[in-house]
Amino acid sequence: SVAGVARAIFPELGLSAKSNAGVFDGAWRASGETVEKCSPIDGKPLARVRHATGEDYERVAAAAQRAGLAWREVPAPKRGEVVRQLGNALRERKAALGRLVSLEAGKIIAEGEGEVQEMIDICDFAVGLSRQLHGLTIASERPGHRMMEQWHPLGVVGIISAFNFPVAVWSWNSAVAAVAGNATLWKPSEKTPLTAIACVKIAEKVCRANGVDPAIFGLVIGDGATVGERLAADRRVALVSATGSTRMGKRVGEVVAQRLGRTLLELGGNNAIIVAPSADLELAVRGILFGAVGTAGQRCTSTRRLIVHESVKDKLVARLVAAYGQLSIGNPLQRRTLVGPLIDEAAVAGMMNALAEAKRSGGTILCGGERRRGLYVSPCLVEARNEWPVVQAETFAPILYVMSYRTLEEAIAWQNAVPQGLSSAIFTRDLREAETFLSARGSDCGIANVNIGTSGAEIGGAFGGEKETGGGRESGSDAWKAYMRRQTATVNYSDALPLAQGITFGA
Ligand code: NAD
Repeated sequence: SVAGVARAIFPELGLSAKSNAGVFDGAWRASGETVEKCSPIDGKPLARVRHATGEDYERVAAAAQRAGLAWREVPAPKRGEVVRQLGNALRERKAALGRLVSLEAGKIIAEGEGEVQEMIDICDFAVGLSRQLHGLTIASERPGHRMMEQWHPLGVVGIISAFNFPVAVWSWNSAVAAVAGNATLWKPSEKTPLTAIACVKIAEKVCRANGVDPAIFGLVIGDGATVGERLAADRRVALVSATGSTRMGKRVGEVVAQRLGRTLLELGGNNAIIVAPSADLELAVRGILFGAVGTAGQRCTSTRRLIVHESVKDKLVARLVAAYGQLSIGNPLQRRTLVGPLIDEAAVAGMMNALAEAKRSGGTILCGGERRRGLYVSPCLVEARNEWPVVQAETFAPILYVMSYRTLEEAIAWQNAVPQGLSSAIFTRDLREAETFLSARGSDCGIANVNIGTSGAEIGGAFGGEKETGGGRESGSDAWKAYMRRQTATVNYSDALPLAQGITFGA
C-alpha cells in the first residue's frame, strides 16, 4: 500500500510522516503555509510540507551566495570528489528514492528507479568533468603575448523544475553546476516537494561529511508566483535553468531578460515518430509504445504524433491497438504495471478536453481515452490532422495522434510544422531516408533518432530542443559551459606594448 511504502522509506530519506520544512539554507526552516502532499496513486496524504515565504527566499539566496563564494575556491577536482560521494549516497538509496518518486509523481517503479539511476550517471559524468573544465590557448598576433580562454564559476545557479522529473532534473543541473564551482538554489515543482527535500537531505549529509557548507545546495519550495518569480528577478542568480511548460518559460525568460541575466530553458515538446515503409514494425511498435504510453505520456519527450506511411498504416495501427489493449494500468508500485496515474485532476481534465476538441475537429478515437477511477486513464490513439490546434499543442497526457503520409518530404514537413522542437525519430531501414532525416533539411529538433523512439535520452549527450522548447542544452557533451563564465585573458610577457590590429597610439 502507499501508506506502507511511505512508512518504510521515509526514515531512510530523512522525511517526517507529519510535517517537513520546505526550505534549506544550511538549516531546515520555513515559515510559509503548510500544504498537504497527496499521492496520485490513491489520493491519500503522504505528508505535509511547509512552504517558503518571500523572507525565507531572501535567506536562502543570501546563504547560497555566501556558500558559493567559498565553494568557488575549492579546486574543481576536489569539488568533483564531493559529487562522487553524492553519487554513491544516491546509489545506496536508489530503491528508497525511486519508490518516493513513484509515491509522489505516480511513475511506475522501474521509471522511478531509472530516474535515480540517471542522477547517479550524471554524478559520474560530473566527476570526470571536474578534471576537464578546460579552455583554449589561442595564437596571439602580438609578439611576447599569450592569449587564453578560461572558465570560471557563475556564482548562484537557480533551478526551476517540473513535476514529471522530480529528481533527475535537479541532478542534471546541480551536479554539473557544483563541479563548475557554483551554488544552486532549487525551486522544485510544488507538486513534488518530498522528493526535493529527500535529495537535498542526501546532499546535505555529503557536504557535512566533507566540511563543505551545505548551503551550496539551497532549496525553496513554494509556488511559481511567490518563489519562482522572485528567483527569476533576483540579480544574485546569474543563471536561471528552468524546466517546465512553454508558458512558464516565456514568463521566466521575460523576467530574467529584464535584468539581462542568463537562462537555460527546457520547455514543452510535441514529438513525432515517422514510420517509413521499410521500417521494422516490431521495433517501431515497441518504440512507439514506450514513447507514447511510458510515464503515462507525461514526459517532455513523450511521443505525441505518429506520422506513418500510408502503405503500412493499417498494419501498424492494428498492432498498436492490440498492444494498447494489453496495457496494465494501475498502481505504479506493482512491478507489472506499465501505466500509472496522471499527476492531478487538472491533468485528467486536460486530457479529456483535448480528446473532446480532437473529436470536434473531426478526429476518430481508435482506442482508449476513458477516464477510470481516481487519476487513472487509458492511453489513447486518435486519427487526426497535423494542423489542428489540438495537435499543435502539448497535452501532457497519453494521447497519440496518428496521421498517414505519402512522401518523406511531406512527413518531415509535418514533423517540423509545430511550435516545439524537442525530440523526433524515424523508423526506417533505408539509409537514404535515415540520413535525409538527420540532414539540414531533416528534423529541426534538438534530438533526432533513427530506429529509437523519442524518449529515454542518455545523459552523455546534450539534452534540449529548439523553438518553443527554449533552446537550452543540459546534461552531457559541453553543456557544462552554460554553468560557467568564459574569460579571454591575454598576458604580455614582453617589454613592449604592441596594440592589436597594428594601431599606433601616441608616441
Ligand atoms: P509548469 O510549467 O507548470 O511548472 C514548472 C515549474 O515552473 C514549477 O516549479 C512551477 O512552480 C514553476 N513556475 C510556474 N510559473 C512560474 C513563474 N511565473 N515563474 C517562475 N516559476 C514558475 O510545468 P509542469 O506541469 O510541472 O511540467 C510539465 C511541463 O514541463 C511540460 O510542458 C513538459 O514538456 C515540460 N518539461 C520539459 C522538459 C525539458 O527538458 N524540455 C523536461 C521536463 C518537463
